[in-house]
Amino acid sequence: MEGRLEDAIRTIPDFPKPGIQFKDINPLFADPVAYKEAIDRISQLYEPSTYDRIGAFDARGFLFGAAMSYATGKPLFLLRKRGKLPYETVVQEYSLEYGTAALEAQADAVRHGERVLLVDDVLATGGTMRAGCDLVERLGGTITGCATLIELDGLGGRERLSGYETKSILHYE
Ligand code: AMP
Repeated sequence: MEGRLEDAIRTIPDFPKPGIQFKDINPLFADPVAYKEAIDRISQLYEPSTYDRIGAFDARGFLFGAAMSYATGKPLFLLRKRGKLPYETVVQEYSLEYGTAALEAQADAVRHGERVLLVDDVLATGGTMRAGCDLVERLGGTITGCATLIELDGLGGRERLSGYETKSILHYE
């Protein structure tokens, strides 16, 4: 149904701080038809034969990556905020507008030479996705591409990911 997916995304001004137009995807999860459409469409962005493994970002990326793994039969691994994962890990720090953040993956999450598709809900400045690319490459993998449900155009995400293929379903200013 045309527009159902778009209608299931709610923009909340000034959350979590002034000036941010927060894309609230909770209504999407409350509408199984729209959620299914989102999973079908994000799964179709990349042909499954072009990647070996899906990497999903903490936390809303998990809700897409897990369903894509189920739909495509591809193995899944998690890119988590620092300090959440047991076992041996690799940490990638990246800069935010103020300060730094860090992503962490288990050291055996990606095998040498594997092709990885990275998945998240929103691409904004691209810092999170770029850190994911760096982490996968440090683990010996290669990036097939980056897939997001939503891309916020004009925040520089696509530029920060130059050299990597980036595809999104919905674009907002
Ligand atoms: P960035 O690293 O700036 O590309 O930000 C992307 C990450 O932050 C994703 O994991 C999103 O979940 C979250 N994010 C950033 N901006 C927004 C926004 N306007 N609405 C919802 N989530 C956002």
